[in-house]
Amino acid sequence: MLNGIGNIAYLGASTLFILSLRGLSHPVSARRGNLYGMLGMLVAIAATLLIAPGVSLAVVLVCAAAGATLGALLAKRVEMTQMPQLVAVLHCFVGLAAVVTAVNSYLAPLAGLAGAARVIHECEIYLGALIGMVTFTGSIVAFLKLQGTLGGKPLILPGRHALNLGIVAVALALGYRFLTAPSADAGLFALLTMIVFAGALGVHLVMAIGGADMPVVVSMLNSYSGWAAAATGFMLDNDLLITTGALVGSSGAILSYIMCRAMNRSFISVILGGFGTTSAASSTQAAGEVVAATVDEVGALLRDASDVIIVPGYGMAVAQAQSTISEITRKLTSMGVKVRFGIHPVAGRLPGHMNVLLAEAKVPYDIVLEMDEINDDFAHADVVLVIGANDIVNPGALEDPTSPIAGMPVLEVWKARTVVVSKRSMASGYAGVDNPLFYKDNTRMLFGDAKASVDALLQALAA
Ligand code: NDP
Repeated sequence: MLNGIGNIAYLGASTLFILSLRGLSHPVSARRGNLYGMLGMLVAIAATLLIAPGVSLAVVLVCAAAGATLGALLAKRVEMTQMPQLVAVLHCFVGLAAVVTAVNSYLAPLAGLAGAARVIHECEIYLGALIGMVTFTGSIVAFLKLQGTLGGKPLILPGRHALNLGIVAVALALGYRFLTAPSADAGLFALLTMIVFAGALGVHLVMAIGGADMPVVVSMLNSYSGWAAAATGFMLDNDLLITTGALVGSSGAILSYIMCRAMNRSFISVILGGFGTTSAASSTQAAGEVVAATVDEVGALLRDASDVIIVPGYGMAVAQAQSTISEITRKLTSMGVKVRFGIHPVAGRLPGHMNVLLAEAKVPYDIVLEMDEINDDFAHADVVLVIGANDIVNPGALEDPTSPIAGMPVLEVWKARTVVVSKRSMASGYAGVDNPLFYKDNTRMLFGDAKASVDALLQALAA
């Protein structure tokens, strides 16, 4: 009876998770998607407690309360720009949980399991521990790199691919030993030895990847954590964990693919690492004169314009300039100016980063356009306002085949009559590449913190 109710609840929770993913695919439905996900998780936890045999409810509730408090505090304190770090930390917990569950499953008596069923169960344990440990240590390194505790430069050891292959070979050999172990102790020894090697593999794999590729790595680790959870689901014979793990695993893999496509990088080249050294620079030095503009000059340009496109980037997120930009949009619209936003798929540090910030600042969704929808319109725009963006508006990606970001699709802002770039200095963006846009005849640099600049601009427009 209880099992029947539990299974129906699991089905309901799986459906809610699928609805949640669907909701998260668009800003308009994202809030609803989050609610579905939260509800699904609540149903899942309640159903698991209902059907799990011999669970001490008090222990689970105390642990859940501690975890929920910690999670709520962290989520409240973390800035949008620190989201990739938070996600990396969460993946490291999923990986660790898979490892601990695997070891625990091996230590627990395998009552009633013999022959092929036992081998399959042991394979699930081994795979869960392997993927879980790579996810655990890989996520810790990704967190330290994103946080700036470890440098962004890739660690390129001589013969690193051979080293990785060597560790995989050792893991396979230990796997054979684990499955054919003459005693439980010998099996445990093989399992624990593999866990040490898998930990080293996770560290080495992520250390070899440069800072610029770290968000892709986080999304890839997201996928790994899903597969680790699915393996744990098989281990524990829990259908919901298998479904949820597969959803996370496949959506993480799809997201990594989308990010790679938007940066014109192959997934394999990202995983093999080496790109993203902070010292990377375009082989052709950008040349020309840099023309700075004052806030009043930019205000006059905007007042005279009839078609304005705003392109936000990572700097807008750092400066938290989105609310003032939203007010400027309202002001210009009330003056009869057509204002739209152009969003690059990898603007900021996570896909959708800019959409979330603009939605928070109550910019209407219908004027926020994707790169493919707006790229042809730059040629007709009077003014393009680039707020804290750099790599995503770099013409070198199209014009300089030797540029490290050559081939990356970019927003072609330089085709507008005038481009105003708000940033603090001539510093490069995340890819460490010089930007010829800043030296073009129709570009004006509005130097200073983006928030201070747009605050002053709003005042100038109101005057
Ligand atoms: P960039 O990192 O290229 O440039 C951001 C610019 O913002 C910097 O040049 C900086 O210049 C400026 N800036 C920083 N702080 C401020 C501030 N307070 N006020 C004003 N300006 C500021 O960002 P983009 O959004 O253009 O490009 C994103 C980059 O991240 C791309 O290289 C992309 O490939 C990469 N990436 C993104 C992913 C994603 O999913 N979104 C995933 C993986 C990589 P200055 O210091 O002079 O102010």
